[in-house]
Amino acid sequence: MKDDPGLSAFFAPATRLMDRLRYPRKMALMAAVIALPLGVFLFLLVGQINSAVEKALGEKAGVEYSRRVAALVRDVQLHRGMASAFLGGDPSFGPGLAETEALIEKDMAAIDEISALLDAGERWPELKEKWASVLQSYRWAGAQASFEAHTEFISGALSLMTHVADVTNLTLDPDLDSFYLMDSVINKLPLAAEYLGRIRGTGVAAAMPGGLPQGERVRLIMLAGLARAAMDDVEANMLKALAVNPGADGALRASFAEADSAVKAALATLDEKVIFSSEPSAGAAEYFAALSQAMDKSYALHGAATESLEGVLAGRVEALKRKRALILGGSAAALLLALYLFGGNYLSVTRALSRLVGASEKIGRGEMGVRVPLETSDEIATVGRSFNEMASGLEKAVAELRRSNEELEHFAYAASHDLKAPLLAVASDLKLMERRLRGGEAEEAEAAELLSDALAQLEMMQAMISDLLSYSRVGTAGRPFKEVDLGQALERAKDGLRVSIEESGARVAADTPLPRIKADPVQMVMLFQNIISNAVKYRRGDAPEVRVSARREGEEWVFSIRDNGIGFPAGDRERIFELFARLHKDRYPGTGIGLATCKKIVERHGGRIWAESEPGRGSAFHFTMPAGEDPRELS
Ligand code: ADP
Repeated sequence: MKDDPGLSAFFAPATRLMDRLRYPRKMALMAAVIALPLGVFLFLLVGQINSAVEKALGEKAGVEYSRRVAALVRDVQLHRGMASAFLGGDPSFGPGLAETEALIEKDMAAIDEISALLDAGERWPELKEKWASVLQSYRWAGAQASFEAHTEFISGALSLMTHVADVTNLTLDPDLDSFYLMDSVINKLPLAAEYLGRIRGTGVAAAMPGGLPQGERVRLIMLAGLARAAMDDVEANMLKALAVNPGADGALRASFAEADSAVKAALATLDEKVIFSSEPSAGAAEYFAALSQAMDKSYALHGAATESLEGVLAGRVEALKRKRALILGGSAAALLLALYLFGGNYLSVTRALSRLVGASEKIGRGEMGVRVPLETSDEIATVGRSFNEMASGLEKAVAELRRSNEELEHFAYAASHDLKAPLLAVASDLKLMERRLRGGEAEEAEAAELLSDALAQLEMMQAMISDLLSYSRVGTAGRPFKEVDLGQALERAKDGLRVSIEESGARVAADTPLPRIKADPVQMVMLFQNIISNAVKYRRGDAPEVRVSARREGEEWVFSIRDNGIGFPAGDRERIFELFARLHKDRYPGTGIGLATCKKIVERHGGRIWAESEPGRGSAFHFTMPAGEDPRELS
């Protein structure tokens, strides 16, 4: 993870806050910050849907109201027509009038029922009163006055219908299909029916004994035109609504076709029997029936349009409810899923952390082999990986420490043990001398012998201590590696051994040219000197032969130093490299530290050292050195 300073500065306050919180709180905080505005948004959205549902339901109630008012209007229109005929002098309409009044009673009861649910104001009670007065007066007022009173009542009912449409939002309906259907149901169709009703009521007088009053013919022509225009509007509305929503058809088209042809037929009857006829050729009943047929059909059309409108509104309510359920259900599911994920995340984090804690505790108790299982692929796995690397490093370091501690213990043990031997010898020499001197029995020669023995032991100790010092300094006082010409190193080693080489008449020579490698120059001379001095020391007879050679093997050089000395048993080839190991203690002087020092030097350079020999047949010492440009320094 990169640390961008700009980003870090930007997120600093949030980072400080998160640093202070435990995981459940962190997650609760983030969830709250996201959920709050989302909740408000959801609340508003659902509120909006609810009010749209309310409005649509209100519109449905308005449609139902208009259906009932339309039924009332229809029956009042019938009553008006019958009253006109009855008052015009045709008593056969008498029973029909009474029946229709009973129907109107029922229509009004139905409107009373729904008025309680809808706030239609004072208009409805006023209208009822008006009807009561129409009923009281029409029989005595004369045909003309009755017609006008009925017509005024009907106008009031129609305006109640539009008022209720306003109150219930029908007028401002937001969708095209329902808007055009509403326009037909509330405005155009009732108007068309009313024009037809007036034509029926007015025209029927033509068949009466008094005939058609003056000027009524013109009024009828005008009404016929208005009825036709209203039907055209109804058709246009229907076509527009069905273009937007073909599913709203139902019985609409068929019903319109029937109404349209019935209206055309009725208007043709009007033309034929009333407008263009000077003599009434038809009875009032026939004319009345033709107009009534047209009105029935247009009320049937009104019913079909009302049903279509109700269907559209119900569909809208359903769609809104579905949308609301989808939004609420989806939000609930998302919320549950988020909670589920938060829980999973919390467990994942705490589990990964407790694995880390468990592993650290085990390592703390000394179980160095413990590693954290990397079961996640997030940032915690990165921590786990570094933890495991650290544990491996620690394990290695502990092993190395243990090894060097053992080495140190061994070294201390060997050093104290082997240094004690000459010291004890000196002490016993001196005690013996003291006893002899006190007893006065000492002879000078014996004392001198004891003293020189003690001195020899002390020299031995000195040699051991100085050898130990150079052994211990191989690691600590080594010089940096640089390019060393090993041919020259060999010459300098020989120089250092000149006295013993000359005394023994030894021949020391390189069989092959020696390479240049990167190494500690002083330690290279020391290495050659130790091995060659042994070859000279452990010689067999005179004129020892020491041959040095080098050969390349892959990435390293292998050096060999062979002699023709006394050799040693093959079983001791490893022991001779241990500290203070000496195979020929009695016959040869030595400290047993030389080869241990050689081993330490070679290993510091990244190489190995080993020996081959057989007693009486000479020995060969081999060691390797990395040939690379940059041999690693191994302490
Ligand atoms: P020392 O001071 O005794 O020579 P080293 O560590 O140099 O100690 O050698 C360890 C022992 O290995 C010697 O004591 C000797 O017994 C044996 N040794 C070393 N080099 C040779 C050799 N070239 N031939 C035979 N024995 C050898």
